[in-house]
Amino acid sequence: PAKPVFAGELPKGLQSISNIIAVSSCKGGVGKSTIAVNLGYTLAGMGARVGIFDADVYGPSLPTMVSPENRLLEMNPESRTILPTEYLGVKLVSFGFAGQGRAIMRGPMVSGVINQLLTTAEWGELDYLLIDMPPGTGDIQLTLCQVAPLTASVIVTTPQKLAFIDVAKGVRMFSTLKVPCVAVVENMCYFDADGKRYYPFGKGSGAQVVQQFGIPHLFDLPIRSTLSASGDSGMPEVVADPQGEVAKIFQDLGVCV
Ligand code: ADP
Repeated sequence: PAKPVFAGELPKGLQSISNIIAVSSCKGGVGKSTIAVNLGYTLAGMGARVGIFDADVYGPSLPTMVSPENRLLEMNPESRTILPTEYLGVKLVSFGFAGQGRAIMRGPMVSGVINQLLTTAEWGELDYLLIDMPPGTGDIQLTLCQVAPLTASVIVTTPQKLAFIDVAKGVRMFSTLKVPCVAVVENMCYFDADGKRYYPFGKGSGAQVVQQFGIPHLFDLPIRSTLSASGDSGMPEVVADPQGEVAKIFQDLGVCV
């Protein structure tokens, strides 16, 4: 995809990254972090050099979902840059690895912290940097998009939260910033039991969204207790079960980003 327009000069730490992909959602709790992390480890499994940036300062999930040996980011005192921590070859930065932070922060402060973490990290050469965006389409999200030259976005939603209007808002934000949305993931979509497939929340309006906005891919991700358990245990599902059905869905998603 064409390089999008973004404000300012490209920060040094981001200069050797080929693709910066935003994983975004309009509401919290839809599985955005789960998808960002599993997509990251899928791309790494395909041989790519990957980093994951957890941009959720209020509720960072990355520290729960992966188990790096070093759980604190280190600062290089000379260059005043941040050294990402690492788990299974993937570079990781999260406010949750920054030691004890403040519990209460106003919006502009959050934007400042996110920008600093993202742009002063020594990402090095990466094929993909995945940004686990904070939910919503507000100021913080907008600033982030202006700091990092995003190459693509993936929008995550669930059928019951897939209010057409909300997903459309996300698509419009990226479209204004000239960032193509390459896929919508409808998470917790179905489960299989007794040889049948059940859609407990009904079928979402994902198909309508992708059609109306010309988004090239729609993925349905099932409800799986293993996805939730692996998230809590610090080992992504696609690493724990690389041949499983969920891993296959992530491989398909990986090919289209
Ligand atoms: P978000 O980043 O959107 O807030 P999370 O990725 O933290 O959402 O997911 C919220 C919770 O739902 C987590 O406990 C996660 O393990 C669980 N979860 C996400 N996707 C699935 C799924 N497909 N099946 C089962 N549990 C899931």
